[in-house]
Amino acid sequence: MMKTGTQTSRRQFIRNTAKGSLAITLGMAGLSMMSSSCKTTKKVTTGPVGLGFDQTPLPYAYNALENIIDATTMEIHYTRHAAGYSKSLKEAAIQENVPEGTTVETILKNISGYSQKMRNNAGGHYNHEMFWHTMRPKTADNKPAGALLLALENRFGSFGNFKDKFNEAAKTRFGSGWAWLYTDAAGVLKIGSTANQDNPLMNTGEINGFPLLGIDVWEHAYYLKYQNKRMDYVDGWWSLVNWDAVQNRFA
Ligand code: MN
Repeated sequence: MMKTGTQTSRRQFIRNTAKGSLAITLGMAGLSMMSSSCKTTKKVTTGPVGLGFDQTPLPYAYNALENIIDATTMEIHYTRHAAGYSKSLKEAAIQENVPEGTTVETILKNISGYSQKMRNNAGGHYNHEMFWHTMRPKTADNKPAGALLLALENRFGSFGNFKDKFNEAAKTRFGSGWAWLYTDAAGVLKIGSTANQDNPLMNTGEINGFPLLGIDVWEHAYYLKYQNKRMDYVDGWWSLVNWDAVQNRFA
């Protein structure tokens, strides 16, 4: 558990009512969510940096990625799988007395001090919020530009080499997990993968850094359309990558 807050505030926290504890845990977003009179809640739509515990609205329609990711897969993925991670994250936050205002990133960076439930669901929530916001409707000849493209070319030789290496990470992740482009502590671009809902932010992982781009290679992300053909899904997904969002994370 993180060493934030005094023992006094910890006791006060525990003494709160269930609803009060929930409100404290969720911060203003949670309070707004629970207040039916509040119709003007400002939703974060820019992705998971500073992310709260609630799902943000999907930044496009369920069918906006059709031909690559079908609408049924998107709807089930967002409203069931990802919603489940958010819900269980909020439960874990209450059970583990997470202090007011704690961001998901802070939890992930200190994940060794939390439960397996927190690890699975804080990771799941963060990873999916990032995933939705680093996709957009299909773009022909989709590739990054500017500083990010230069950095990828410098690091991997060419954009094509980068894609080949990333594809290999996605292909060889055994079972459920994610493949990542991330920057390490020195700011060096790296490619890797993680199991389950782990990600590079976690202080328990084999890879550590800040995730710029990730692909969900759990079967629930592609099985309806692609069945066992994971790499057909990955090949199509490249045309959906929102390189502007990735550039923003890189900057
Ligand atoms: Mn998923």
